[in-house]
Amino acid sequence: GARSAALAATGPGRTADGHAVPLLANVGGPQDVAAALEHGAEGVGLFRTEFLFLDRTTPPGEDEQEAAYRAVLEAFPYVVVRTLDAGADKPLGFLPATGEEPNPALGERGLRMLRRHPEVLAGQLAALARAARGLPAELLVMAPMVADAAEAREFTETCRTAGITRAGVMIEIPAAALRARDLAAETAFFSIGTNDLAQYAFAADRQLGALSRLQDPWQPALLDLVALTAEGAGGKPCGVCGEAAGDPALACVLTGLGVTSLSMSPPALPAVRAALAAHTLDQCRHAATAARTARDASTARRAAREALPGLT
Ligand code: PEP
Ligand code: MG
Repeated sequence: GARSAALAATGPGRTADGHAVPLLANVGGPQDVAAALEHGAEGVGLFRTEFLFLDRTTPPGEDEQEAAYRAVLEAFPYVVVRTLDAGADKPLGFLPATGEEPNPALGERGLRMLRRHPEVLAGQLAALARAARGLPAELLVMAPMVADAAEAREFTETCRTAGITRAGVMIEIPAAALRARDLAAETAFFSIGTNDLAQYAFAADRQLGALSRLQDPWQPALLDLVALTAEGAGGKPCGVCGEAAGDPALACVLTGLGVTSLSMSPPALPAVRAALAAHTLDQCRHAATAARTARDASTARRAAREALPGLT
């Protein structure tokens, strides 16, 4: 009735039969907190920290970073912060080595750049540890562009040294998805970045509109990589924070594939919440199987929608 519809519009994410799927917000900083709260985010699933670092000639100091991190940590009970994801694709004025690569998407970006400039990562982690001190919020920190278990292990160790116990990795490189089990042994959680995972799986630059067909998150090969990652997580949290999480039908499919939380741009939250509330976990699983059985993206989308009655 009207009451359950109202609850579904504002409550925590859950399927019709009560399987919890936390619905989280992607934010770029304190300026996005209001929109996330307004749309009922249960926490932040992806805090992109680049905004603090772009368009400046000196790196932000630890105090400035601490204040920005704290503003987000004060607003939510659960916050996943991604360490700086910069490289030649998003050059930084104070790191002259970036910006010179012929293939920026395949270069020293994300964690690779942080390994070359360990003082940047150390400063971020120190500011994060200080920002979380004394607050009830759960702080999780994850690295972008992690390729293998050795990188996951090193990141977890670096976090531990900085006093951050919940370190995770983004799964956005196909090699990491294929060997998810190995990475899970080295880290506390996964967050799947479907934007980059599609880019690298299909060798299709995500900035090229001409290749959008290959960036379609309904591509069965991408769904296979998500399923493999969720399975390899072996019971550890495995969210999705790419654009795919904000599509209501796909959100149900991702849930059916074993994904445990969904993080998206705040305005996408209500429709995803409603789609989950209208379907059981079994229906989500059937939709996921139907989509993976398809041979192309449009057939996958149609098959999933048939298994999810009532989606518009
Ligand atoms: C992704 O790659 O899916 C992701 C969430 O990270 P970004 O879009 O910031 O690269
Ligand atoms: Mg990414």
